[in-house]
Amino acid sequence: MADLPYRIVIGLEVHVQLLTQTKLFCGCSTRFGQPPNSATCPVCLGLPGALPVMNRRAFDLAVKAALALNCRIASFTKWDRKNYYYPDLPKNYQISQYDLPFSSDGHLDIQTPEGTKRIGIIRAHLEEDAGKLLHEEGGSGKDSLVDLNRTGTPLLEIVSQPELSAPEEAKAYLEELRLLLKALEISDCEMQEGSLRCDANVNIHVPHADGVAATPIVEVKNLNSFRAVERAIKFEANRQYGQFQSDGKKLGDRGVSKATAGWDDVRGVTVVQRRKEEASDYRYFPDPDLVPIEVDSAWIAEVRALLGELPAAQRTRLQSQYALSAYDTEVITRQGRPFVAYFEELARGCGDAAEAKNWLTNEILQTLNDRKSDVRAFPQPADAIAELIREAKATGLNKQRARDVYAHMVSEGGTAKEVIKKLGFTPVTDEGQLRDIVRRAMAANAKAVTDFKNGKVKAADAIKGAVMRETKGMARTEMVQQILLEELQRA
Ligand code: ZN
Ligand code: MN
Repeated sequence: MADLPYRIVIGLEVHVQLLTQTKLFCGCSTRFGQPPNSATCPVCLGLPGALPVMNRRAFDLAVKAALALNCRIASFTKWDRKNYYYPDLPKNYQISQYDLPFSSDGHLDIQTPEGTKRIGIIRAHLEEDAGKLLHEEGGSGKDSLVDLNRTGTPLLEIVSQPELSAPEEAKAYLEELRLLLKALEISDCEMQEGSLRCDANVNIHVPHADGVAATPIVEVKNLNSFRAVERAIKFEANRQYGQFQSDGKKLGDRGVSKATAGWDDVRGVTVVQRRKEEASDYRYFPDPDLVPIEVDSAWIAEVRALLGELPAAQRTRLQSQYALSAYDTEVITRQGRPFVAYFEELARGCGDAAEAKNWLTNEILQTLNDRKSDVRAFPQPADAIAELIREAKATGLNKQRARDVYAHMVSEGGTAKEVIKKLGFTPVTDEGQLRDIVRRAMAANAKAVTDFKNGKVKAADAIKGAVMRETKGMARTEMVQQILLEELQRA
């Protein structure tokens, strides 16, 4: 972005749904796709007299995420009511955390073309989700329906410092965050299902006569894909530049306040909607129905012990331990921990990390994508595929035949040895037998032999082709090559 006449400043607010069985303050199920309003109870419906009780598992998951984001965990934290009216919020307030969030001051390292960049995390706090309004399915088209299944689902809100300076960096931040939260099984981070939602605070710094001017901050909402995040930021920065050129309004000027905008993905534009509320508009106050939480160091240590190897550390280790490229490491780690475990088992089992990587990132990943499935549901364990790799190498089975064996193993079952036998893929390795076949092929392709003798090296391909046909591809290419060359020189 070096060629732009301004610098973009981006801060991201990410909401992720925690992978709990039940809601944050009641026992209702959080499963996606249940019939509308079936997963509700007096607590999440906000009926008078119903009392919330905190879900301990949600708090543990949130602490786990905060620790992975290098945050400081507060020893004392509490719940606050954020008061506002909206049809998807039956209580007329959201239980959130205001001035004493459970965690703060963390960071996340992202990869940029210039290298690793550290992005500060201001805070991460817990809150409950609101319901969902459906505007399209009202029959007449004029009705709005409300589904309160999502009401009370635990959300972790992660607020970054405004330290991202390009749309690509915003995307990289989200990708790294998703990788981390998925690896730790904190959230499944499905933007399509709304379990990861992102708002971007954007403004630009423009050099001008008296130094640098910062434009008013706009919070862009409704970003429901990584691509939308990138496009929206790019568009909004450019829009602010045009606006600044025409009105010269700066952050801090009288009457200038933060605004919110929606992103119209079809038209590819941001639409500024309204002045942004200030915290004081929400009349926050501590929730009298919930007790504050005291977190002791033993609790933190207990959660920290469950973190395991984080993606960044894992990438570094895989790269050096298995001599993989940065790209390959990225492809493997991006698939999550079970996939990495499968890779390591496969690499150990076949004794060839490069081959293990090839099979995994080509064939196996393809199979998983075709089946829309996970490596945990893959029908062949790593040692069975390791055997295939070893057998293919030992018997000189070519790649295409090895792929056939693989496909058979995956769809019909069986070990590599069994399938090789069953498909008749027993390789021709006897030198005398192969030499006879080569001689016969030369006799049948006399013209090719003459052409070769006259310097047309390519002519040998026709003979080689005949040998491969005769052996049904079961001869080792290097061996055919070697024998053919000897025989041609002798002819
Ligand atoms: Zn409930
Ligand atoms: Mn929030």
